[in-house]
Parts: sequence; C-alpha cells; structure tokens
Amino acid sequence: MAATALEFLRTHHQPCKPPPPPVPRASVLCRAAAGTAGPASAAALRSLAPPTRPELLSLDLPRYDPARARPVDLAVVGGGPAGLAVAQRVAEAGLSVCAIDPSPAVVWPNNYGVWVDEFEAMGLSHCLDTVWPSASVFIGDGRAKSLDRPYARVARRKLKSTMMDRCVANGVVFHQAKVAKAVHYDASSLLICDDGVAVPASVVLDATGFSRCLVQYDKPYNPGYQVAYGILAEVDGHPFDIDKMLFMDWRDSHLPEGTEIRERNRRIPTFLYAMPFSPTRIFLEETSLVARPGLAMDDIQERMAARLRHLGIRVRSVEEDERCVIPMGGPLPVLPQRVVGIGGTAGMVHPSTGYMVARTLATAPIVADAIVRFLDTGNGMGGLAGDALSAEVWKQLWPANRRRQREFFCFGMDILLKLDLEGTRRFFDAFFDLEPHYWHGFLSSRLFLPELLMFGLALFGNASNTSRLEIMAKGTVPLGKMIGNLIQDRDG
Ligand SMILES: Cc1cc2nc3c(=O)[nH]c(=O)nc-3n(C[C@H](O)[C@H](O)[C@H](O)COP(=O)(O)OP(=O)(O)OC[C@H]3O[C@@H](n4cnc5c(N)ncnc54)[C@H](O)[C@@H]3O)c2cc1C
Repeated sequence: MAATALEFLRTHHQPCKPPPPPVPRASVLCRAAAGTAGPASAAALRSLAPPTRPELLSLDLPRYDPARARPVDLAVVGGGPAGLAVAQRVAEAGLSVCAIDPSPAVVWPNNYGVWVDEFEAMGLSHCLDTVWPSASVFIGDGRAKSLDRPYARVARRKLKSTMMDRCVANGVVFHQAKVAKAVHYDASSLLICDDGVAVPASVVLDATGFSRCLVQYDKPYNPGYQVAYGILAEVDGHPFDIDKMLFMDWRDSHLPEGTEIRERNRRIPTFLYAMPFSPTRIFLEETSLVARPGLAMDDIQERMAARLRHLGIRVRSVEEDERCVIPMGGPLPVLPQRVVGIGGTAGMVHPSTGYMVARTLATAPIVADAIVRFLDTGNGMGGLAGDALSAEVWKQLWPANRRRQREFFCFGMDILLKLDLEGTRRFFDAFFDLEPHYWHGFLSSRLFLPELLMFGLALFGNASNTSRLEIMAKGTVPLGKMIGNLIQDRDG
C-alpha cells in the first residue's frame, strides 16, 4: 500500500490550500507618529516573545497499522477540537476510527475564551482553568458596561487530554502525518499522506481548520479577517479588575489627536481583549474584529505597544504570544460533497465574532451521530455509503435554519466591515444594552431567523438616531445581499 501511495503522491500531489493570504503591510508602518509608541516599541514587544515550544501530552498513542486490509469506518483529517470531538463520539458508538494529524500529541496552541454557560451545557466545566464572574466593555472614555455573564479561559491541555483519553479508550488509532490528497471510489476513499502511507476509509471527515485541506468550495473565497496579537505576560501591574475579564476596550486615548496612527484606528478600529489572572499576570490581545483585507500584524502590534504604554503596563516577560488570523464569513463549502467537514474547514466560525470552539464542540455529536446512523458498516442492517452517506451528514451539519442563521451573521459582518471607530462604538453601545437573551443568543449562535429579525428590530430600537441612520445607509446593500442569498438558497 505504501509503495502505491508514494507513486500516487509523485504524480498527483497537490498541496492543501495555503492558510489565509498574508495580510498586506500597512504602508504607514515606518512613519510612527510623534509621541506614540512607534515601531521600536512594537519591535521591543515582539522581542520579548519566547520561541514557540510545543507542549506535549504524555500519552501512549495507539498507532494506525498501514498493513490493515479493511478500510476504517471513519478517517478524521485534523486533530483540532473539531476533529477529536467527532472521532471520540464515533468510536464510542463502536465504529473504527483513524485520526490523522501531523502533531497528534501536541497541546493546541490557541488561547481559547468561551462563555461559561456554553461549556456548562456540554458538561465541560472541568476544562476551564480560570473563570471571571463578569466581563466589561469600554465603549469609549468614561463609557463602560458591565456584562453579567461569566467568561472563562479554556484549559486547553486539559481539554485536549480529556478528548484524547476518550479517543484512546474507545479505540481511535492515530497516524502522524499530513494528508495530501483524497481519492474517492463508490463506497470508500483513499487518503494519501505525505509520508507515503495510504489510509482507506468509508467516510472522510475534513477537520483541518482554516487550511481547508479537502473540502471543496465553488464560489470565490472572500472572507473578512479577524486579526489579533496576544501576549500572556508578567507585568509590573495593570489597571484592570481581576474579577472581570475585559471583553472589548474601544478607547483610543492612547493615540494622540492628529496623529496618523489615530487616523488609522479611526478608520479600522482595534480593541483590547484581556484576561487578568492576577495583579501581575495577564493575557492581553489587541484585536481587529473584522476587516477586508485583514489588518497587518505589525500595525496591530504597534497599536498594542501604544496602548500598553498609555495604560502604564510595563511588560516584564512574555510567557507566550499568539498571532491570530481568522477568516470570517465568505461562502459555505459545496453542499453536499463527498468529503464531510466540521469546524473551520466547514464554514462554522461565527461570521460576526470569530468565535467557534463552543459551537463546534456542540455540533460534533450531530455530525458523529449522523455518520453512525447512516453508515453501512456491513452488519446486514442496511445503511448508506459514498456520496449518499455524505449528503445525509452535510444535511445534519447545515440544515436550512443554520444556513439562514449564518446568512444573518454574515449580514452582521458586512455592516461591521463598514463601520469606523465611532460607528462601531455606537453599534456595541446598543448591542450590549439589549436583553441578555438577545445578545447572549446572538454571540452563542442560539437565535434562529424569526428571532434574529426580532433581535435586529430590538437593536435598531436601542440605537441612537445617528446609529439608525448609519445602519440604514450602510446596511441597505448587505440587507439586499442577504435577502438575495436567502431566496437563492430556498430555490436552489
Ligand atoms: C489564535 C487563535 C485564537 C482563537 N481563539 C478562539 C477563542 O478564544 N474562542 C473561540 O471560540 N474560537 C477561537 N478561535 C477560532 C477557532 O475556534 C479555532 O481556530 C479552532 O482551533 C478551530 O478548530 P478546528 O478543530 O476547526 O481547527 P484547528 O484547531 O485549526 O485544527 C486543525 C488541525 O488540522 C491539522 N491539519 C491541517 N492540515 C492537515 C492535513 N493536511 N492533514 C492532517 N492534519 C492537518 C492541524 O495541524 C490542526 O491540528 C481562535 C483561532 C485562532 C487562530
């Protein structure tokens, strides 16, 4: 099998889609405004970041045997939260599963933040390492809001090891490699890995995140990008209450009037997101909520350096840093198609917020159960195979109500893309004054179309007159686009 696969790779290898395109550098980068923290400060910040040292789980991984003659029932490509959640559940139901990832035992690097109720609902509270009873939002100077909704940082090591333990206990086997290609037959597929091993499988799940390795798209890929730079740092001190996480700080008093950096921030604003763990240990992330094209990382670092200096935060050391580029919105993959998908690869990121991890973990059982229910495992109970099976799984992942919900969230993103700093402030001023049912439901993807329309009306009702005019002026084209897409989807 391995020799055939190597041969195949030599003749057919096409690498997976590259990660999101590099965001352009801000042309103004070298012209630091007088009195602001210029590139030197951003460079100083970067220089504190330690080299990335992957953290390993101590696990004895059961390995996939390339000499195995029969296809596995499910091959999961990608061992992020999405892939492992499905692998674990399908294996629990007694099906054979192979998970393929280049680094299966490495702890995920991202600093995940979630609303506590989302993890509680899935019985995952034990995988949170720090909980803040409430969160705060600074709309502008002197304009703060307190959000009465607990927020937490995910204990990523604990979450991954819990999921890996469940996978191992239920018989998932692992193959450490990258998948380069899938070849499909009537009732099975062959995954060709970059080490020459070929893994035959009845069902293939692409869970490769934003690299979208196997899932096909047939429309131009034009997402917005959330770009952020974060550091987990030891500091001399910081001004934040350690009982509140800082969800958004839209203040711009760190950028002096009349300066070029302030003007940049006025046009495409960034906010500070912070998790204060103690008076001297804090995770700080300067974030561009969404922009098309995405903001340059060094522009964001420059703004962050200016903000920290203004807030009097002196960074003593950086434990880790995070460069975050999240594609948001854009078209869904071709529905249905042979390879099934989940997570980043399947368009599941929230188009208005960039959040996804809780939603993906909550959806994994739906995808897994559909595979278990519909797959013909040759036990004489009937079932489906190949394209027919995949079509059923896609139907469960993206039913009409979820597709309509996503269209509405994309409409939200299209409006956010058009708002400058003042517009964004007015938007969130009205948003966080909504009934908790509405803003919780919007952020956690719990509202569906009829309720989303009520949400839209409530938001409009809450908005200032200026904001209403702005939403009408800037929202008309996106509204038309949303309605067109909804009609096309219904007729399609
Ligand atoms: C820095 C950062 C911070 C984020 N923070 C949050 C947050 O706080 N809250 C939130 O809800 N969301 C957050 N997100 C968004 C989203 O939840 C994460 O991106 C999440 O990790 C996506 O999960 P996933 O399983 O789909 O993909 P990933 O976690 O990206 O996992 C994909 C896996 O596939 C593997 N892979 C890729 N190509 C191949 C291949 N060809 N063959 C085999 N394996 C392959 C990769 O090595 C990786 O292990 C964040 C994203 C980033 C980038």
